Amino acid sequence: IEAVASKLANAPAVTKCGIRLHFYSNIDVKEEIPSIRSAGAEGVGLFRSENLFIDNTKPPRETEQTEYYREMAEALNPEPLVIRLFDIGGDKLIYSPISEPNPNLGWRGIRILIDVPEILDAQLRAILKANGSENIQILLPMISSLDEIMAIRDTLEKHVTELDKSEIRFTKPELGAMIEIPAAVEIIDEITKAVDFISIGTNDLTQYTLAVDRNNEIVQDLFDKFHPAILRQLHRIITTACSNNCRVSLCGDMGSDPLALPFLVGCGLKEFSVVSADIPQLKALARRFTVDETRELVKDCLSLPTASKIKDRLKKFQANLT
Ligand code: PEP
Ligand code: MG
Repeated sequence: IEAVASKLANAPAVTKCGIRLHFYSNIDVKEEIPSIRSAGAEGVGLFRSENLFIDNTKPPRETEQTEYYREMAEALNPEPLVIRLFDIGGDKLIYSPISEPNPNLGWRGIRILIDVPEILDAQLRAILKANGSENIQILLPMISSLDEIMAIRDTLEKHVTELDKSEIRFTKPELGAMIEIPAAVEIIDEITKAVDFISIGTNDLTQYTLAVDRNNEIVQDLFDKFHPAILRQLHRIITTACSNNCRVSLCGDMGSDPLALPFLVGCGLKEFSVVSADIPQLKALARRFTVDETRELVKDCLSLPTASKIKDRLKKFQANLT
């Protein structure tokens, strides 16, 4: 039975009409790599690098990072390794040298990286040096403006030029932006023209769009990723990325929800990064619907006014699958 399960998990994900989908894994530590393979992942779509913070407070040294990333990249090669730069601060309560009244709207992610060059420089140099296998991609957390993307791109170029003068063999990785702040959705046309790929973070996008703290139990019933505002944003992000020929994937928890999958595929999404244990059931579900069917579903969902009506429509779609 195990052999059959593993064969099924590793079979490619195709819809009933033959459209190929790709499932990658979200991971926190390199030790997870062997198990993502058996779950059928085609690589790592999100490595949350902030887990490398030593004792949860100190940034790891450049040499340690280089070794760590190289080991991961080589183990995955030729499959991709998307390293998200340290997303510290906010709900990720590591490295908080200051106390803030509202950390989710405070100093976190890309803002810290831009303000503390020692941290950014060490991480970018480590990634460049580790990319001998050429399968690493860089993902920027908490992007809200083009200026932030340009600032990181300039710094990356500076390190590329410097390392070019050395003996070290490396390849410049592709640069992508997390889309997880509503402002980024408003400028999605410009962002998708400025980066090589985007990855949608539905956890933070839901939090910031609905003004609902993702970790506050009192308001958890309001944290609803099927809110019409979220679905309309997702449709806009995915269709804009596709028309600008920018690769788009989704790495928030929504990617694991079977109710969401047909909607996302109907919008044009083909790449998902999820907890690897969820991949086999998502692939199995994808084999049961056609893209034409999902386009109808998307049209209906985009016109519905409430999350509960949207969920009813998505459940009806599931129930009617053969
Ligand atoms: C997200 O915000 O959806 C995401 C994938 O990143 P994290 O959960 O690490 O904030
Ligand atoms: Mg996030």
